Formats: sequence, C-alpha cells, structure tokens
Amino acid sequence: TIYFIDGQFTSKDSLNISIDDRGYYFGDGVYEVVKVYDGELYTAEEHFERLFQSASKIKMSIPYSEQQLIDIAKELVKTNDIKTGHIYIQVTRGVSPRVHQFPEMEVPPVVTGYAIPNPRPYKNLEDGVSAKTVDDVRWLRCDIKSLNLLANVLAKQEAYEDGCAEAIMVRDGVVMEGSSSNMFGIKNGVVYTHPATNLILNGITRRVVLKLCKEMSIPVEEKTFTSEEAMKMDEFFMTSTTAEVTPVVKIDGKAIGSGSPGPITKKLQEAFTRQIPVTVIG
Ligand code: PMP
Repeated sequence: TIYFIDGQFTSKDSLNISIDDRGYYFGDGVYEVVKVYDGELYTAEEHFERLFQSASKIKMSIPYSEQQLIDIAKELVKTNDIKTGHIYIQVTRGVSPRVHQFPEMEVPPVVTGYAIPNPRPYKNLEDGVSAKTVDDVRWLRCDIKSLNLLANVLAKQEAYEDGCAEAIMVRDGVVMEGSSSNMFGIKNGVVYTHPATNLILNGITRRVVLKLCKEMSIPVEEKTFTSEEAMKMDEFFMTSTTAEVTPVVKIDGKAIGSGSPGPITKKLQEAFTRQIPVTVIG
C-alpha cells in the first residue's frame, strides 16, 4: 500500500508520524472519507469542500488547493489499484510540543492519506440492520468533521455490544444522527431527517438522498423527531459514504414498521445505485 504524507507518496514502513502531532495529542484536525466506485472518486468535490469548511471552522489552513487534494486522492486510487473502496484523508494542526493553544511558531499542517479496497455492504443493504439509541454526549459543533471522535467511538461500541450495527445519537429525547451516519424516518410517505444544524454532520450521502427525494417527488421534512416517534415510523434508514442507504429495521430490539426494508427506502436505494456513475461489481 502506498500512503501520502506531507507531499510524498510512500510505503507504510517509511511513514514518519511524530508523537508531537497535535492530531495524536488532541484530535486537533479534520478528515474525510471518499468512496471509490470502479476506480472513480464519488462526490469528491463535495467531500473536499467540506474538508476545507471543517478546517476553517477550527481556524486551520490547508496547504493545498481543493484540486491538488483531489489529484492526490486520484493518485492514491491509481497507485493502489483500487476498484471499489475508499480514500481516507486527514489534516492535523501539525507537529509541536504539547501545549493546548495553537503553536506559537507557525507549523505546517500534516496531511496524510491512503486508499483501501472496501466492497459495498451488500448484506446490510439487502437485509437492513439493527440500531441502538445512545445518549448523545458530544459537544455543540457536530457540524465539524473533526478527529475528536471519542463520544462516537463509545456510542458505536455500546451499539456493537448489543449486537447493533449503529448507534442512534439522542439529545434531549431528539434523534440527531448516527455515530457515523445520518438517520431518516418515514411516516405516511414523508421522509423526516434532522435539519443540518451545528448538532449534526451534514452528510454528503444525506444531501444526495435529499436530492433524490426531490427528483422522485418524495416529500421531505428536515424536521426533528424524538426517539419515541422514531419507534413509530413506517420505515427507517441511515446514510453514509460507506453505508450508502442502509435500512434500519430494528431499534432497541423492536421492529420498525414491518421489520424489513420498506418500499420507499428500497426505491431510494435503487435510485442511489443508479446514480453511482459506473456499473459496480464487487
Ligand atoms: N454523521 C457522522 C457523525 C459521520 O461521522 C458521518 C460519516 N462521515 C456521517 C454523518 C455521514 O456523512 P457522509 O454521508 O458524508 O459520509
């Protein structure tokens, strides 16, 4: 595998990561995951635009242009011969002795990236998954795709220990999003999802799905709903770069709707697959 670090493409053995990297100490950085279908980056512009927005929100500059990062991502896909998979890219505030405030002397941000194969989650797409509601103890800037993922990690672990594929983050009784996904409920033909505020990450897949709903004249309400209301939805699904449109068929051990992927969810899945720019096998 060939990695990218600080302007170089290199092997894992020669990667030089400093203990003084602020990403390592503080999670002081941002990241993106971009899906690769048939050797092509999917919605790369949207992902890299969000990377720059996240960086700006934490007062960090990225020493590359959006196009340069896209070119680096493309090179990673090519040199690693990735067909279906994803690229990971992160930017930290650089290397400096451990003090909380920004480094006194300006240091260059550390940009790292790699590409790995990752098949589409066919089984989950077909059968749906179970989810568990978890108290959302995160901070109030969940719109930033930051490396600080401790609350998400703990939530996902809690879900996994209960045999669930995803945690549903609930704040003051209201469904926010998943630990690494966005959540949608469907009631009487209307698709509900949390509005894109500071309390959720505005997922790129979320945006694609909202666009597909519009194109297919499926009514959407970007409105909050409670975890109690979630249990009474006719259908439920989650979205992310890697999960695509994954049906959620059980929440906290109880079946949602019929207990199997619902008709509108399936329609959206099919529409999603149709707009992947290529025919994807494996
Ligand atoms: N919310 C959170 C907290 C996430 O980590 C992710 C995954 N990046 C998402 C939502 C989904 O975003 P996207 O569709 O851009 O992958």
